[in-house]
Amino acid sequence: MKIHGYAALGPKETLQPFSYDAPDLEPFEILIKITDCGLCHTDIYMINDDWSRSTYPLLPGHEIIGTVAKKGSSAELKLGSRVGISWVRSACLHCPQCVRGDTNVCPTKLGVYNHGRFGGFADHVIADSRFAFTIPDRLDSSHAAPLLCAGATVYAPLRRFGLQAHHTVCVIGIGGLGHLALQYAEAFGCEVSALSSSREKKKEAKGFGASHFYLLDELPPPGSFDFILCTVSANLDWNQILCLLKPNGTLCFVSRPTDRISINPAFLVSTQRSIVGSNNANRSLMQEMLDFSARCQIHPMIEVLPLKKINEAIERLKANKVRYRIVLQPKE
Ligand code: NAP
Ligand code: ZN
Repeated sequence: MKIHGYAALGPKETLQPFSYDAPDLEPFEILIKITDCGLCHTDIYMINDDWSRSTYPLLPGHEIIGTVAKKGSSAELKLGSRVGISWVRSACLHCPQCVRGDTNVCPTKLGVYNHGRFGGFADHVIADSRFAFTIPDRLDSSHAAPLLCAGATVYAPLRRFGLQAHHTVCVIGIGGLGHLALQYAEAFGCEVSALSSSREKKKEAKGFGASHFYLLDELPPPGSFDFILCTVSANLDWNQILCLLKPNGTLCFVSRPTDRISINPAFLVSTQRSIVGSNNANRSLMQEMLDFSARCQIHPMIEVLPLKKINEAIERLKANKVRYRIVLQPKE
């Protein structure tokens, strides 16, 4: 069987129609017929080889929803069941991190695409059934797709750092990840602020749950927040951002600013502030996030496009013109 999708043949190239032979399924693998796949900014960094680890042909897409069309001998999912696939394709399941449940930081985890594996901007994908998540009935597939990466990546640190109603949370960058982070933080009862470079996002940010909206050139007062979640890869004045934290506050990066960060330790020591990073979500938080999103009716704001418009979608995302996630559908 041939799988048809769109791949970059070299760094920074536009995606081209591309097909490959579906390999025989390993025991835990499944073949998924894709209905929807969200476009994450990470896909663009991977297409461009910005992190010096891309291999070509590179067929991206890691916010995948579809149905199980075929399964290997050990896969327990039912044929026809609706599942989601995220960035982490598989992990060893026996290292100390995996045993603790933190499959998202397994040293030998694999991404859904790269190094000869192909992602979700296609009609089908081969996945590991142990990393396929059940989609609650109350979530429609197009709105569920962005939850697999954008939703999981912001939900996990909010849960991991125990954010609750007495905390003040600031989200920097109101894009695919950021607009979901506002919604989760509000659902957790936090007082939520948005910090943006785009004045025109104010009304929508408030609709997503932000009580306060600030621009990067009109910062809130120092000592305002318990937790800052950074989703921008632009190079900001990080010492200034750190000073927005209260004592014991945490600055959490899910994005990777392109320049090295230089921090004045004085802004950490006497106030006990921390800087941390967070990668996607472990399997348990992934399923919890999907169930929580269904129960609390948390939805990404999406624009649905046919998969053949993938290059147009990429250009719009690069230009910060997407409101707030593009979901591609392979059907004609
Ligand atoms: P996105 O939709 O493009 O959102 C990024 C936001 O950054 C933009 O909407 C914009 O928000 C802000 N921004 C863009 N250019 C800026 C500039 N020059 N100065 C200041 N702010 C700017 O991207 P995304 O898909 O949400 O991904 C966000 C980041 O998270 C990416 O770096 C991605 O690689 C990373 N990521 C990490 C993980 C993980 O597991 N850690 C998972 C997924 C994604 P405003 O208009 O509000 O300023
Ligand atoms: Zn992603």
